[in-house]
Amino acid sequence: MSKSKIYLDGKWVAKEEAKISVFDHGVLYGDGVFEGIRAYDGVVFKLDEHMERLYRSARLISLTIPKSKDDMAAIVNEAIKINNLENAYIRLIVTRGIGDLGLDPRVCGTPSIVVIADQVALFPERCYKEGLEAVFVNTRRNVASALDPTIKSLNYLNNILAKIEANEKGVPEGIMLNTDGYVAECTGDNVFFVKGDTVVTPPVVAGVLEGITRAAVMDIIRTKTKYRIKEILFTPNEIFEADEVFFTGTAAEVIPVTRIDSRPIGKGTPGPVTLDLIGYFRELTKSGTHVRKR
Ligand code: PMP
Repeated sequence: MSKSKIYLDGKWVAKEEAKISVFDHGVLYGDGVFEGIRAYDGVVFKLDEHMERLYRSARLISLTIPKSKDDMAAIVNEAIKINNLENAYIRLIVTRGIGDLGLDPRVCGTPSIVVIADQVALFPERCYKEGLEAVFVNTRRNVASALDPTIKSLNYLNNILAKIEANEKGVPEGIMLNTDGYVAECTGDNVFFVKGDTVVTPPVVAGVLEGITRAAVMDIIRTKTKYRIKEILFTPNEIFEADEVFFTGTAAEVIPVTRIDSRPIGKGTPGPVTLDLIGYFRELTKSGTHVRKR
């Protein structure tokens, strides 16, 4: 039996006791919000940014989190300490709470708060050296007028359908287009490509989650490198003509992509810009300088 302690509505409980009601609207309807967070060497990476995104997501679904951002951040910090973890993946969930079988959120009681700190499940190191393979999937990214992709909600079926397509093709990630045919993002990562000295990523209006890693990498490009960063709409063909492609995400960090739809990208090996950015990103996570000065 695992000794890990899960935060559940004010208590630290054993994994086996961390249970939620079947009447919670998080279970019944995917009604809730969440964050996936990393800690490096005992320091939570970009904690303020994750808190801001969580509370923004909650606001946009009219969910009032019954805790201040500071209290929530303290629980996240406590989660790694209580579980004796230095390097960890932290999943923070806020559900709508317990209601009845109707979907009206007004019938729900207090939102449930869950914080799980666990080991990080990473792509094998080989993928960072050789590059990842991906495919373009048929499932289009949700349109913002139906379900805004900038809301990190518990409703991930759009991404799961895309993931199933990637699974069926035997590759670890699927790239989704938006309904206009422009590249949006992956099932759980943001997309970048490199052409010459320019690094390109879709703007938020393409239908992407504003990744915390995406923002950190854009900041690195602006402040530490001679490359240019552009947020513009682009099509799959521009990806096939790119010198390099990489994905970013909390779990993946910065990962090179060397084959898409069975076609090699650039030289078919991780390119110099991506490798540079992996180096800078690792420096940032190891240095402790990722903690924002208050
Ligand atoms: N896009 C989607 C759909 C995601 O779920 C995630 C995070 N899992 C990302 C992008 C990357 O965001 P972050 O860098 O904040 O992890």
